[in-house]
Amino acid sequence: MNYTPEDKAKWDRVMEMLEETLRNSGQLPAYNAFIKPLKLYAATSDTLYISGDSIFNLNHMKGRYGTMIYATVPLVFGRRFELEYYPENIISQMVSRQEQATTLNEKYTFDNFIIGQSNRFAYATSLAVAQTPGEAYNPLFIYGGVGLGKTHLMNAIGNYICHNHPGLNVLLMTSEAMTNELIEGIARKKTSELRGKLRNADVLMVDDVQFLSRTKATQEEFFHTFNSLHGNKKQIIIASDRPPRELPEIEERLRSRFEWGVTVDIQKPDYETRVAILIQKAEEMNITVPYDVVEYIAQSVNSNIRELEGCLSNLNAQAELLNTPISLEMARTALAGRIVAQAARVVTADLIIEIVARQHGLTPGDITGKNRSQTIALPRQIGMYLCRRMTSMSTTNIGKAFGGRDHTTVMHACDKISEAMDSDFAFKKKVEEIMGYIENN
Ligand code: ADP
Ligand code: MG
Repeated sequence: MNYTPEDKAKWDRVMEMLEETLRNSGQLPAYNAFIKPLKLYAATSDTLYISGDSIFNLNHMKGRYGTMIYATVPLVFGRRFELEYYPENIISQMVSRQEQATTLNEKYTFDNFIIGQSNRFAYATSLAVAQTPGEAYNPLFIYGGVGLGKTHLMNAIGNYICHNHPGLNVLLMTSEAMTNELIEGIARKKTSELRGKLRNADVLMVDDVQFLSRTKATQEEFFHTFNSLHGNKKQIIIASDRPPRELPEIEERLRSRFEWGVTVDIQKPDYETRVAILIQKAEEMNITVPYDVVEYIAQSVNSNIRELEGCLSNLNAQAELLNTPISLEMARTALAGRIVAQAARVVTADLIIEIVARQHGLTPGDITGKNRSQTIALPRQIGMYLCRRMTSMSTTNIGKAFGGRDHTTVMHACDKISEAMDSDFAFKKKVEEIMGYIENN
């Protein structure tokens, strides 16, 4: 049992209240679609784990009703709870999964990692860590955008260590896997097992730490594990899509520890690096790609390396289907959809709101909502400013997108943020970094 019968009864009462509220405001269909499927899965002292039917519905539900549910829970439970939502299939896997996938992907090595200006430092530092784990740089924090090679580098470190220091216990897990293990531990009152497993590691690698659950229990556990490992000179490696200081959901004491060692970033690859990667990947995939096609792809796709690989697979599939060799002409036709989609990816107000919210540990509903406290008002103004700058929307429409605000409010926000950016360099960098996330989304 993951919760007591009283918890269950209280949760049912919360659902009833939500149903009533939404019925009264004519939103019963939305209740049936998005809220009704929510089930209590587990309750800890500070968190309710709720399952829903799909990640898509959950995201939508959270954006629209997250705050409402959060506010209703204390009315019944008598105090606040953090709410964590997972799709049903994932939550049930969490229970049934005995061994978390912690195996390394042997495909990813230092040998097949192409070095360029964009990743040279990250590569060199990773290699140094692999050669002398626990000594050179601890922790190693690697950050960079999607598909730029973070997971590849972590696996390369792991594979290198397994090969050259076979006695060492190497553990690579995503922060989601770690969160899942922990929830499972809590549900079964077996936290100590996870603790043993993590703390027995000689090398602990946590991938995509931006997804580490923001609940106290998970962060607390990670914090103690970090201290224990670091104190024993065990190597810790963390990867994330952004630098430590840009992880508002992570407790300050953990964030500052992430910066104890060395922080390296991976940038988008330049043209030469893209060419080199394409040539190598084509070789690995065992396909023949003429040089002009390589150039064409490298010129057209500059966002990330996974996309480059995607183009190659796509071409390969086309070539096999048509039973003809890959040619430039074919590449133009075959990749048109992909490349146009890339170039024309439009930035919308919704996207900006979502990313600005995430960057500040808020929900989109907070940004468009009524709360005027400074912690929400400032991100809201940043969002408006970014809409003005990154879309062709009028101030009137931006106001509408931000919860029906007046266009003068938008103009004021734009002026305020521009001024703040002019006078505060750190703030300017921060806003520009958010712009980067929006562009690369
Ligand atoms: P991330 O974890 O940063 O999102 P991955 O490490 O999963 O990105 O990389 C995406 C794909 O691009 C993988 O197939 C990886 O092998 C490849 N890749 C990334 N960087 C390089 C590189 N420098 N050389 C060769 N392949 C790379
Ligand atoms: Mg990755």
